[in-house]
Amino acid sequence: MANISEVSAREVLDSRGSPTLDCTVLLEDGSRGSAMVPSGASTGIHEAVELRDGGKRFLGRGVLNAVTNIRKVMAPKLVGREAGNQRELDAFLVELDGTPTKKKLGANAILGISLASARASAASENHPLYVYLQELYGSPSLSIPVPFANLLNGGKHAGNALSIQEFMIAPVGAKNGAEATRMVAEVYSTLKKQLKNRMGSSSINVGDEGGFAPPFTKTAEALNAIVTAINELGYSKHVRLAMDAAASSFYMDGSYSMDGRSLSTGELTDYYADLINNYSLLSLEDPFHEEDFEAYATLTKRFSNVQVVADDLTVTNTARLKTAVEKNAGNCLLLKVNQIGTLSESFEAARLAVNHKWGVMVSHRSGETEDAFIADLAVAMDCKQIKLGAPCRGERTSKYNRLLQIEEALSGVRFSWIR
Ligand code: PGA
Ligand code: ZN
Repeated sequence: MANISEVSAREVLDSRGSPTLDCTVLLEDGSRGSAMVPSGASTGIHEAVELRDGGKRFLGRGVLNAVTNIRKVMAPKLVGREAGNQRELDAFLVELDGTPTKKKLGANAILGISLASARASAASENHPLYVYLQELYGSPSLSIPVPFANLLNGGKHAGNALSIQEFMIAPVGAKNGAEATRMVAEVYSTLKKQLKNRMGSSSINVGDEGGFAPPFTKTAEALNAIVTAINELGYSKHVRLAMDAAASSFYMDGSYSMDGRSLSTGELTDYYADLINNYSLLSLEDPFHEEDFEAYATLTKRFSNVQVVADDLTVTNTARLKTAVEKNAGNCLLLKVNQIGTLSESFEAARLAVNHKWGVMVSHRSGETEDAFIADLAVAMDCKQIKLGAPCRGERTSKYNRLLQIEEALSGVRFSWIR
C-alpha cells in the first residue's frame, strides 16, 4: 500500500459554467488519481456545505478558498499517510474540518481528496476503479445499473412553468446496459422529433440535465409526451416512468404550488396517487418538503409497489436516513457523494439503507463534470439503479459511456432491475 506524496487542486468549470474543484492525489509509487466535484441547484438544506468564495469573481461562486484549503491546510497533513485505508483517510479529513457540515474546509475540498485518493489507490493496485470500490464497500457482486434518464426538465433546472423537476424513463425491461442505453437514446430522439413537430424548434431547448424544457404547464402534458414517444417505438413493455418532484422547490408556508394551483399535503398526495395509477409510475423522488417525514411515510405505505426515493429528505446523511428508516419515510436512498462529502460516509449511508431493505440509487448532480466516478460507483455497489440525466451533453454521456465500457470489460455481467 502506497503513501500519499502530493495532493494538489485547481479550479475548473462544471456543466453550468460555474467553478468547481479538480483534485489530484499522487502516491509514492507514482500512481495518480484525479476527481472533479459535482454541484447541485435544488440542494437540500441539510447537505454538507460547498465552500464558495463570495465576492465578484465568478459572481461569488469561485472555489479558490477550497483550493487553498487543500494546498495549504490539508495537503501538508496528508503527505506520508496511507491512501489505501479509505475509511481512516476520510475520518481524518472529517476530523480536520471539525464541523458537522464540513463548512470550515468545505465539503467540496474534502470530497475532491476522498475521490481522487480512491482513484490513486485503485491505480496503485492496478485495479479498475469499480473493483477497488467493490472491495471497499464489501459488495458481493458487480452489476450494471438501470439508468434513470431525465428526458424532460422542469423546476429549478429549466425555464418553463413545470413544478416537477424531472420526468424520467427507466428501461427496466432491457436485456443489458447497452440495450438500456440504446432505448433511452431512441426515446430521447423520438421525443425530440415529436416535440419539434408539435411545438416548433424552441421546444427542444434543453435544461440543466440535458432533458428538453418545452413550454408545458402541466405534469400530465410532460408525462403524455414521453408516453407518446415510448409508444411510437413500441417500448411500453420495456420502459417505465419515474419522476423527481424536488418538492421543496415548490413548497412554501405549508402548501405546494403545483402547476399554478396551491395544494395541501393531503391534496398533493392524492395528486400523486392519480399520476401513479394513470402512468404506472415506477419511482417517485422527493414528493414532499424535505422536513415532512410523515408525508413520505403516508405515501410509502399507501403505494407499496412504488419506489419512494429520499433525496433532499435524507441528503446521504446517516443521521437523517436513520429517522427516515424508523418512520418508513421512503424505501430508497438517493446517494450523492457531494451531499455528505466523503466516500466512506456515503457507503455508511448505503449500508444503513440496505440493512433496512431500502433500495439505493446512485445519482449525478445537475451541475456535473466529465468525471464518470459515479458510473464505477454504481457498478461496484451492485445497487442496480443510477440517475444520469438525459443521454445528451458530455457531462451526462460520460457516465453512460463509462457504463458501456465497463459492461464490455465485464462480459456477461448482470443487468437487472431489483423488483
Ligand atoms: P440537483 O438536482 O443536483 O440540482 O440537486 C438533482 C436532484 O434533485 O436529484
Ligand atoms: Zn432529487
